[in-house]
Amino acid sequence: MTYIKNGVLLLPEGEAINTVLAFDTHIRGLIQESQIGDGEVIDAKGKLVSPGLTDLHIHGFMGDDASDGDAEGLDRISKNLIKNGVTSFLPTTMTLSYAELERAFDVARGLRGNESGSSILGINAEGPFIAEGRKGAQDGKYIKPVDADFLIRHSDIIRLTTVAPETEGAIEAIKKVKEKTNVVVSVGHSDASGEQTKAGFDAGITHATHLFNAMSPLGHRNLGVAGAALTDDRVSCELIADTFHVNPDLYKMLYTLKGDKLVLITDCMRAGGMPDGEYTLGGQRVTLRGIECRLDDGVIAGSVLTLNKAVYNFKKHTGLSYAEAIRLASANPCAAIGQTDRGSIEVGKVADVVIFDYDFNAEKVFVGGKEKL
Ligand SMILES: [Zn+2]
Repeated sequence: MTYIKNGVLLLPEGEAINTVLAFDTHIRGLIQESQIGDGEVIDAKGKLVSPGLTDLHIHGFMGDDASDGDAEGLDRISKNLIKNGVTSFLPTTMTLSYAELERAFDVARGLRGNESGSSILGINAEGPFIAEGRKGAQDGKYIKPVDADFLIRHSDIIRLTTVAPETEGAIEAIKKVKEKTNVVVSVGHSDASGEQTKAGFDAGITHATHLFNAMSPLGHRNLGVAGAALTDDRVSCELIADTFHVNPDLYKMLYTLKGDKLVLITDCMRAGGMPDGEYTLGGQRVTLRGIECRLDDGVIAGSVLTLNKAVYNFKKHTGLSYAEAIRLASANPCAAIGQTDRGSIEVGKVADVVIFDYDFNAEKVFVGGKEKL
C-alpha cells in the first residue's frame, strides 16, 4: 500500500486536510494518520493531492502526433503527458484518409495497456465526418458524409467522434451508431442551425467539440451549434482554456451554465512543449508563435496548451476553488465518455493520483498506483 499524508486532498465534495490517501492499484481508503499500515509513506508537504487529469482531445505533444501512425511516437506522447499530470487521454486523429486513420487506430490498439505513461482510453476521431464550411484546420479533401459502418467497425477503439449533424444522412447515421455502439458522438466543425443541432441531440449526440471554435456561433434567434450546446442539459461542452481560443471573460458564464458538463481539453498539437517555429497538423504546415498556431492562411490550428495550465487559467479567471477547478479536467471528462472507473479521489477508483503545487505544476504522478514521475 502507498500512503500520501500532509496533503490538501481534492475530493468531489471539496478540499480535505488531516486525511491520508491510501492506494495500491486502486484507491483503498481515506484514513487518519494513526491508521497508516505497512507500505511507502509520502509526505505531500501541504501541496494538492489531486485526481489525475484526463484529456479527451489532444492530437500530439513535444514533436509527436497521434495521426502519424507511429507506435513509438504515440508512446512518447503518453510518457511526456505525465509531466502535466495527465494520467489518461484520447489520442485524437484529424481528417485524413481511411487508410491513415486505420493505421493510427491500429497503433493505439497495439499500445493500449502497455503505455509508458498516461493511459490510452481509446481514440477521439475528430474527423472526417465534418462540414466543409467549418473545417478549421482540417484538410477538406478527406471530408466525408457520416459513415456509421466505419464508426461501428472501429468502435472497439473509438470512444469519441465529431460529426456535423446538418450534413446529408448524418441524423440516421448517428442513430445507427448510438444503437450499435458506446461511441460518444459530439457536434463540431459544424455550421448547423440551432434546430439542426437539437435534432442531432435527439438522435444521440451528447457532447460538443471545442465550444465556440469551428461551429456556428450563438445567436439570439438562431441558437447555432454554440447556443444549442450551451442550453441543453444532455450535452457536455469542451473548452480550450488557453485564453486565446475563447475569451476568458466568458469562463464564469460557461461554468454557471454547464457546471459538471464543462470539460477542459487542450486540442494540443505536436508543437506543444516545443519552441516557436514550423510544424505540421493533419498534413498541413502550421507556424507557432507564442500560444498561437496558424496555417499559412492564418486559420487557427490547434493549440500548445497543457491541461494543467488549462486548469490554472480557468481557476484564475473564475475564482473557483482548487477542488472545483480540478473536476473540469478529471471527473467531468471521464463522465463525458462514460469512463466511471476513474477521475476522482474516491474509494474503489483507479489510483490515478497527482501531487500538484498551487500553480498546478505536477510534482509526483501515479498511474494505476504506479509512480510515473
Ligand atoms: Zn482538434
